[in-house]
Amino acid sequence: MDCLFCSILEGAIPSQKVYEDENVYAFRDINPQAPVHVLVIPKEHIPSADAVSAVNSGKVAAVFEAIPKIAKECGLEQGYRVITNVGEHGCQSVKHLHFHVLGGKQLSEKMD
Ligand code: 5GP
Ligand code: ZN
Repeated sequence: MDCLFCSILEGAIPSQKVYEDENVYAFRDINPQAPVHVLVIPKEHIPSADAVSAVNSGKVAAVFEAIPKIAKECGLEQGYRVITNVGEHGCQSVKHLHFHVLGGKQLSEKMD
């Protein structure tokens, strides 16, 4: 399967690792939109949040268990934002479920 983030997980494409456990990998976004911009992904290939089901939701829970650890590691004590884009209208460019963790500055109230 041709998936950029699966290639990153395999090490075929280099990434700046921030966190890793059995189910989760986190790395710096190549085009950061905030002083801290980390992508957190399940190691299992799930195409998007629209493909989450009872079969794979444990892997998504593992991502959310990792996020507070990642936020602490990145110094986001003052808060942060977690975003996942879905499909064309959501501007999802990589079809492997990922959560953007953004912070390190006062973020905008605007979300679109
Ligand atoms: P999306 O637009 O699908 O929500 O987010 C995809 C994210 O992946 C974008 O923020 C983009 O900057 C990031 N990205 C794309 N290619 C690479 C890459 O090769 N390495 C890293 N670290 N991030 C990437
Ligand atoms: Zn993938």
